[in-house]
Amino acid sequence: MGPTSALTVAARGHGHSLQGQAQAHRGIVVNMELLKKPEMHVHYGKLPYVEVSGGELWINILHETLRHGLAPKSWTDYLHLTVGGTLSNAGISGQAFKHGPQISNVYELEVVTGKGEVLNCSEKQNADLFYSVLGGLSQFGIITRAKIALEPAPMKVKWIRVLYSDFSEFARDQEYLISSKHTFDYIEGFVIINRTGLINNWRSSFNPQHPLQASQFNSEGKTLYCLEMTKNFNLDEAGTINQDVETLLSQLSFIPSTLFISEVSYLEFLDRVHLSEMQLRSKGLWDVPHPWLNLLIPKTKIHDFNKEVFGNILTDTSNGPVLMYPLKKYKWDNRTSAVTPEEDIFYIVAFLSSAVPSSTGNNSLEYILAQQKRILDFCKKSNIGMKQYLPHYATQEEWKVHFGSRWETFLQKKQVFDPLAILAPGQGIFQKAMHFSQ
Ligand SMILES: Cc1cc2nc3c(=O)[nH]c(=O)nc-3n(C[C@H](O)[C@H](O)[C@H](O)COP(=O)(O)OP(=O)(O)OC[C@H]3O[C@@H](n4cnc5c(N)ncnc54)[C@H](O)[C@@H]3O)c2cc1C
Repeated sequence: MGPTSALTVAARGHGHSLQGQAQAHRGIVVNMELLKKPEMHVHYGKLPYVEVSGGELWINILHETLRHGLAPKSWTDYLHLTVGGTLSNAGISGQAFKHGPQISNVYELEVVTGKGEVLNCSEKQNADLFYSVLGGLSQFGIITRAKIALEPAPMKVKWIRVLYSDFSEFARDQEYLISSKHTFDYIEGFVIINRTGLINNWRSSFNPQHPLQASQFNSEGKTLYCLEMTKNFNLDEAGTINQDVETLLSQLSFIPSTLFISEVSYLEFLDRVHLSEMQLRSKGLWDVPHPWLNLLIPKTKIHDFNKEVFGNILTDTSNGPVLMYPLKKYKWDNRTSAVTPEEDIFYIVAFLSSAVPSSTGNNSLEYILAQQKRILDFCKKSNIGMKQYLPHYATQEEWKVHFGSRWETFLQKKQVFDPLAILAPGQGIFQKAMHFSQ
């Protein structure tokens, strides 16, 4: 219908973005999960990969590839998300320090551009489109097919959590682990605010290494930092895995009585958030507002950020998990559209809050949004070089600041691949230009 129509189009993956990014007001929303072609197909060889539809859920990919003894290398914490949805952002979890985000682990895409062309693209073919689409917030095309890199899947996982009360030690250990050659396979961390004693929900499925000391541990109301790691292994390594883990742990400075270890299958570990989802659903706590804020903070500013946010802003409760772990910039291909801070190492800090719908107190949507505004204002005022992950802005001016020196390139690519700005209006970056015929 060309430039005379206001019609826009959005691909909808699993609809889990939080600000209507997969919506198209008065336009067409394409339910990508219904696109069942191609059937999932695993390819062996030196560089194994699985070919999937853009609407495939990561959990289904995991099940299928495990049947072949393989699995994707890079994940999100939650797997009931689609390939197209996470590749439009980045796809980050505790494996990203090693393999890069999911957008660094794709060999090829099939894309329907905003001009209606159906193109295959990769590093070698239509490379400009390939890198534009990865992390491109769905602005250049709809991903209909993807080839995802695989690796041999381990059978089991040693899953470890330890606590710190000193932020500097926590950060130093995290940075040390992501930079070491011999290290864990997954490294994340989270902040535990204002709890006395050892709270149970973060360690419910874990066994303390020192049960007596663990039961006596008291945080005295201090903010704690939990370092979470896994080490993968197969049954033939069962004899040496404990020694391996012990050696790695001996280099860290956590509070000795707070060492918790669990052993689960690789599938159970990767699908861990789904368990929480089921529990929350059964209590009616899943379908509530989720005012989430995901920030990427440069390493040199993380101490200032920690001091202000956990010393002054979030002192009573965080209303949900707060993840905090470092990532390495060189694992992110700078040809993609994803935007990250300017330093070699930056932290993701994810405030994953849930609001209580009828509340007017400190768990209400308004209260949480006001706290988040304080955090954003602090970042702006102190000029810490923060970038939002899963970004959301109200004006194009703010988007220009987000993209910084990359804005002009982003704009040029938009003009090449979606010149009428038909795609993904819910991101709020471009408005469809209308030309009325005389
Ligand atoms: C419980 C939960 C946990 C999460 N954990 C993580 C995490 O650990 N790491 C992380 O990185 N993210 C995480 N996220 C965020 C998640 O990656 C993004 O919100 C993602 O966009 C959701 O995928 P979706 O399939 O629901 O996409 P949707 O919300 O449906 O779509 C997101 C955007 O992508 C576009 N899009 C969807 N499909 C396609 C396609 N085929 N081609 C082109 N564009 C498309 C949409 O138009 C929209 O703009 C989490 C989200 C939730 C709800």
